[in-house]
Amino acid sequence: MQVYCDNEALVKNVNKAREQSRPQFPNDALKASWDVLQAVVRLAKLLPQITFHHIKGHQDTQVALDKLSRPAKLNVQADKLAGSYQRLSSHKNIQAPMIDGTKCHLISDGQTVASKHRKHIRDHRRTKELKTYIKQKTGMSEAAFADIDWQSHERSVKTFKDGPHIFLVKFLHGWLPVGKLVSRYNPVKYPSACPSCDEPVEDSKHFLTCPNPERRKWHAALKTSLRHRCESVDTDPALLDLLLWGLNHWLQGTTIPAHRVPERIAHLLHSQTTIGWDNFLLGRWSRHWTTLQLQYLQRNHIEVKKKNHGLSWSSNIIRLMWDHCYKEWKTRNSARHGKDAEDKAQRRLETAHRSIRDLYDLKPRCSIQAQRHYFYPTVEDHFRRDTDARSLENWLETYQPMIMQNIRHRRDNSDRRLRQIDDVFHLIRTVPPSNPAPTVAPRQRTPTLTTRPITTYFRPHRITSPTPTLETPTTTARTSSTSNNPTTTAPHPP
Ligand SMILES: [Zn+2]
Repeated sequence: MQVYCDNEALVKNVNKAREQSRPQFPNDALKASWDVLQAVVRLAKLLPQITFHHIKGHQDTQVALDKLSRPAKLNVQADKLAGSYQRLSSHKNIQAPMIDGTKCHLISDGQTVASKHRKHIRDHRRTKELKTYIKQKTGMSEAAFADIDWQSHERSVKTFKDGPHIFLVKFLHGWLPVGKLVSRYNPVKYPSACPSCDEPVEDSKHFLTCPNPERRKWHAALKTSLRHRCESVDTDPALLDLLLWGLNHWLQGTTIPAHRVPERIAHLLHSQTTIGWDNFLLGRWSRHWTTLQLQYLQRNHIEVKKKNHGLSWSSNIIRLMWDHCYKEWKTRNSARHGKDAEDKAQRRLETAHRSIRDLYDLKPRCSIQAQRHYFYPTVEDHFRRDTDARSLENWLETYQPMIMQNIRHRRDNSDRRLRQIDDVFHLIRTVPPSNPAPTVAPRQRTPTLTTRPITTYFRPHRITSPTPTLETPTTTARTSSTSNNPTTTAPHPP
């Protein structure tokens, strides 16, 4: 008797295992489909007249069925039977019976795990934390969260190829570097405003709903693509309409008129609205979408194929939406950073000019020394001397932290009512005098400042009015104090 199977690895494993005489080890139970494998091997050892062979599957896609060999025809027939059973959603929630000799099963959430046990356990543990995070972040209720078709979402993530994975992860969790987010790092360098309209704060939603006419073009492109894709995979027209309405109303900021939705899918509208149509765009679909699609196919006697129902159908549409979102992200980035090399260089220059002008606005809050060390006389002088973006960015990288530190230092001293040395002494010489512009790194100049005597640069004021540090209540007291303390230098010694 000859047995054929299109799983070549299984045939090899069975033929190898039937030759082995060693007892079963505990780790053998971690092999994929161990329960079936051990049963086949055990029976094969009892029936040596049975031989196992590999047959290539799906040969009917290349050769007419009547021209195939008998094993190939039987394989095609077996595939159809297996496919019919697989399409029945009811069996998915049934725990598999334990076959004799299996000895142990991994059961998770009432489902038998037949392969990739370690990965399943790791995923199960991480998924729990991830779901808790998503619930907290989106504010979704427990019931709405449980209503999401996570299998479709998972399939879409795993099969998304139209953009980088890092984009998808940030997009799904609201971490795309939009203006609102990046302005927290450096509000001068990264403005929070939308690059395409007057919106002062660009957040994740505004990135998708920006009213700029050029930016809104993707809405129409998305709807057209969705309509074509859905029609090509036998989508229920009522589901297609709801899908387009839902997206359109979310993008427009309005609500779907419930009376326009057929009664038979009203529960879907309620479920998806509870989950949120923003989450719909993120691939968090209600479970009712795939259920209603399968019911539509069966009701209208449309052949159930791989692409027109279940996870393939839903993930196909979800990936299409994400593909359009990624294109829109690239459009938004062009608006922010420029379209071509020349445009990008111009944007860089504008950003550097803006940052430097903001720092020059802070110049009066710096000490006189810092003003002379770090700044040109005017910002226009600065731009005349440094004309390219790279030089300006280098200046910013070098001096911005020191300028901000200087301002903080002066502010702290002011809070403690400590006067600056500039307030007491005139600066009579700049460092270095021949170089008012900050072209030498301060790390090289600092030793010069600290090693030379301070009188190289400063001359005491001819103070006419008393200052807090030199203030004395009366002339008598000052005379008394100076006479008792010979180290104090009095302006007019007795
Ligand atoms: Zn905008």
